[in-house]
Amino acid sequence: MKLLVTGGAGYVGSVCAARMVESGHEVVVVDDLSTGHIDAVPDGCRLVQADLADVADPLLAEGFDGVLHFAAKSLVAESMADPAKYWAGNVLASVRLLDAVQRHGTPRLVFSSTAAVYGEPDQVPIPESAPTRPTSTYGATKLAIDHAITSYATAHGFAAVSLRYFNVAGAHGRFGERHTTETHLIPIVLQVALGQRDEVKIYGTDWPTEDGTCVRDYIHVTDLADAHLLALEHAVPGEHRIYNLGNGTGFSVRQVVDTCREVTGHPIPATVAGRRPGDPATLVAASERAQADLGWKPERPTLETMVTDAWTFARLTPRVRRSSD
Ligand code: UDP
Repeated sequence: MKLLVTGGAGYVGSVCAARMVESGHEVVVVDDLSTGHIDAVPDGCRLVQADLADVADPLLAEGFDGVLHFAAKSLVAESMADPAKYWAGNVLASVRLLDAVQRHGTPRLVFSSTAAVYGEPDQVPIPESAPTRPTSTYGATKLAIDHAITSYATAHGFAAVSLRYFNVAGAHGRFGERHTTETHLIPIVLQVALGQRDEVKIYGTDWPTEDGTCVRDYIHVTDLADAHLLALEHAVPGEHRIYNLGNGTGFSVRQVVDTCREVTGHPIPATVAGRRPGDPATLVAASERAQADLGWKPERPTLETMVTDAWTFARLTPRVRRSSD
């Protein structure tokens, strides 16, 4: 298939683009490189460095078999401080993309959605039928795009799938996570092991969980990429299907830090800090729907594998600026 990957210079986008190329697909990446990295675009992909909203139409006019849509702003705190950046950058650009998909008859679209659309859950594991009450502007913009996709796919007959990721972790060879502003737990802990930070702060040890720290559902980025391949294959014309993607197992912040200590052999000093605003205690996915409909199963479910792959990648990658720098 000829595929357009928006945001293919970012973490999940670059891994998915690499996996698509490995699977024999022709891939064009569109990325404005505002947060992505040029060297994260896999060999063999054509890169169009541009604003998606500007080039979606002329690009799709070339004729594509599918779009994988990752391009987005994705920092929760930034989304609260600067909502315009999120409503324009995420929602308006996505609507331009949907207009182009419709106009040029692109048959399928897979969208990178997020567990952040659910907000504070009433039940865990979280099924796709759970109420969507995002607690951040970031989550609200992703949910708005999900709604827009439903409207466009049903009105215009293309096949659409939204994949709602839980906590993505690990790396796929030389493709991994390197945000300029790092807020995620595993990369931060590995920065401590690399000597780029003195310690990790644990945001709260008084949560209603087994060890008092927050529990999250970590999913290996390669497993996530494989779900995108399956979603492309199983997408149904005129339908917008939504799937949660996680392991269905939660790991606590303390378990993550301990695993990083084991994998890196570094003591990784940790101090207890207050709760981070907006953090729910436990987020775990019910992924049975993806398993049943797509035949998807996480092949790399252990924290050890995710941390080992992230650690291999972190040691390959030049130092990036810390959020506190
Ligand atoms: N966390 C932490 N210290 C950090 C970063 C994160 O204790 O320096 C915690 C955070 O409160 C959450 C979990 O680690 O409970 C995962 O956070 P992350 O930002 O990686 O992902 P999120 O679940 O917020 O999408």
